[in-house]
Parts: sequence; C-alpha cells; structure tokens
Amino acid sequence: MVLDGEIYQADLWSKQALERLLRDGLPPTPRNYAVCYEYMSGRNFALTQAFDKASANGKLTQQQCDEIYYKYVLFDDEKAFLQEADRTISAELEKVLKLLSQSAKETGHFGEDLDTFSGKLSSAPSLETLRDAVCKMAEETQFVVAQNAKLQEELAETSEQLTLVRSDVDRAHREAQIDALTEVGNRKFFDAEIGRLLTDVRENGTTVSLLMVDIDWFKKFNDRHGHLVGDQVLRLVAKTLVENLKGRDIIARYGGEEFVILLPDTRVEDAERVAEHLRVSLATKQITKRGSNEVVGAVTISIGVSEYKLGDEGEALVARADKALYEAKQTGRNRVVAIRA
Ligand code: GH3
Ligand code: MG
Ligand code: MG
Repeated sequence: MVLDGEIYQADLWSKQALERLLRDGLPPTPRNYAVCYEYMSGRNFALTQAFDKASANGKLTQQQCDEIYYKYVLFDDEKAFLQEADRTISAELEKVLKLLSQSAKETGHFGEDLDTFSGKLSSAPSLETLRDAVCKMAEETQFVVAQNAKLQEELAETSEQLTLVRSDVDRAHREAQIDALTEVGNRKFFDAEIGRLLTDVRENGTTVSLLMVDIDWFKKFNDRHGHLVGDQVLRLVAKTLVENLKGRDIIARYGGEEFVILLPDTRVEDAERVAEHLRVSLATKQITKRGSNEVVGAVTISIGVSEYKLGDEGEALVARADKALYEAKQTGRNRVVAIRA
C-alpha cells in the first residue's frame, strides 16, 4: 500500500529531480532522471556521496551522470525504480497539463476583460489622460497575452518532453521483461507473473497449472546444424507454443531451451490435455533451414505438468513440474508427464 505521505514525497523528489536536470542542462532521459531522483530522495547513501563529489563545482555532466547510473542505480532493483518513475512522471504530466489548460482559460479571460474595459473608456471623449492610461493598459494587455502565449508554448514543450520520457520508461518496462530471441516473456517476467497469479489463487480460491517445456536432444541438434539454426528452432518452438495457447495463459522462456507456461484456472487433467496438444503441434511440423530450404525434420519437446496445491509457493509448483519433466525425459522424451496432487 502506498501512503499519501509517500506519494507526496515521491512527487517532491520527482519535481526536484526535474529541476536539477534542467538547471544542469541535462536532458530528462529516464537514466538521468533516475540518478537525480535517487539523489533527491537521499536514500542511496553511496549515490549521494558520488553525486556530491562529482558535482562539487556546481554542475553534473552527462558523463558523470552516466557513471553514477551504471555504478549506483542500474543494479539497484531497476524494475522497482522504473515503476516509481512511471508513477511520478504520470503525476507530473497530469499537473503540467492541468496548469496548461488553466493558463489557457485565464489568459483568454484576462485578454477579454481588459479589451472591453479599454474599449469602453476610450470612447469617453473628454478624458484625454484617461484615454492615454487606457491605451497603455491595452498595450499592457497585449504584452501579458503575448507573455502567456510564450508560457503556454514552454509548458507544451515541457509536457511533450515528459510524454517522451514517459514512453521511454514504458518501453524500458516492456523490454526489461521480454526475451530478445524468442520475444516471449523472460525469467523476470515469469517471476512477477507467478507471484501475481498465486496471490490471485489464494485470494479467490481458484487454481493454476504449470507446464515445464524442454526441447529434446537440443544439444545434439545444435552440434549437427549449428547454433544459428538452433536459434531459429527456439523461435519456432516459442511461436508454436504461443499460437496454441489462450490469451490469458502466460508463457516465458525459463532458461536456454526451456519454456514455462502458466494456465490460470486450469486443473491438472486439462493442463495435461493442453500440454499434449502443444507436444503434437510441434512434433508434426517439418522444419527446413532458412535460406537453403534443407529439411532438418521434426523437433520434439517433453513437458512436465503440475497444479497448485494449498500452501504452495512458486518454487514448489516449478519443482513438481521439473520432476515430471525429468520423468518424461527418462521414459523416452517427446512425452507429457503430469503430477497429480
Ligand atoms: P534433453 O533431451 O535431455 O533435454 O537434452 P538436451 O541436449 O536438450 O539438454 P541439455 O541440457 O544437455 O542441453 C541443452 C542445450 O540447449 C545446450 C545448448 O546447446 C542449447 N541451448 C541453450 N540455449 C540456447 C540458445 O539460446 N540457442 C541455441 N542455439 N541453443 C541453446
Ligand atoms: Mg534443458
Ligand atoms: Mg533439452
């Protein structure tokens, strides 16, 4: 749970961080923002010290900022930071937009009011001095309107910048959880998803099944056809699995040639059927080498299946599926083995 005070704090640090970036002439990239945000929060002592030392002459350079980022931010639970940055940037953006629309309204009114005022007074013929004053006022009005227009422009620019930072952060979020080769989720993604699902299972009394998928004889395959063809097969396996799953199912690359699949709200018997379907879908595919079109035949997978048991943590669910997978390998491969709770 986030307390109001914490939001206020984060908000303040976020603002101070952006101000500092602006002051030092550094672009508000997520990386620069990360460094300044951590500095303003004062919670990372080593970073604070390094920051103070680097900016002893008053300003932090881009190079110094990068160095601090790699040394003190990157390894410091990057994901948690990105989420926080995302929240604070959203809040900042919302405020800027509010300010912008408010300023637009006020400018309009101010201009209108003074225009009518000066219009009325300038038609009073006998009051020369008053007319002069009114003319001056009209001039002033124009000046204020122009100033405000400039302010609006600047604010629009800031908001555009923030939108860019926001989409950078969003992209970083996604990329941090995707496996570059197969484009399914990575281990980090899986860890987050299984945690989320198990919370849901415990709260709502539902269930979840897990499939541990491992390519058969893949080392031999690589030795025979080379790693590049091996990579192509990894992509094909991922694609075949994805194509045969439902939208709510979760798939991730667990390790080298292993994939893990979470089937929410699915009993082990049904999970076993899904696994069997996946196994057959791949085994019946003829694989050809890209470019040469040389047929390399079929690649098979073995799958271990487990279902959530009361009191399970994620590790226990994975361990049971692993055990089932081991049995599938021992008993001939290209097989599905399920452990019934
Ligand atoms: P088993 O049927 O018992 O699973 O045999 P295996 O050869 O598949 O299993 P093993 O764990 O001995 O070897 C896994 C191999 O997977 C080792 C490595 O050559 C291959 N591998 C792992 N990651 C990648 C990858 O990213 N690309 C390619 N091309 N191969 C990979
Ligand atoms: Mg393996
Ligand atoms: Mg294998």
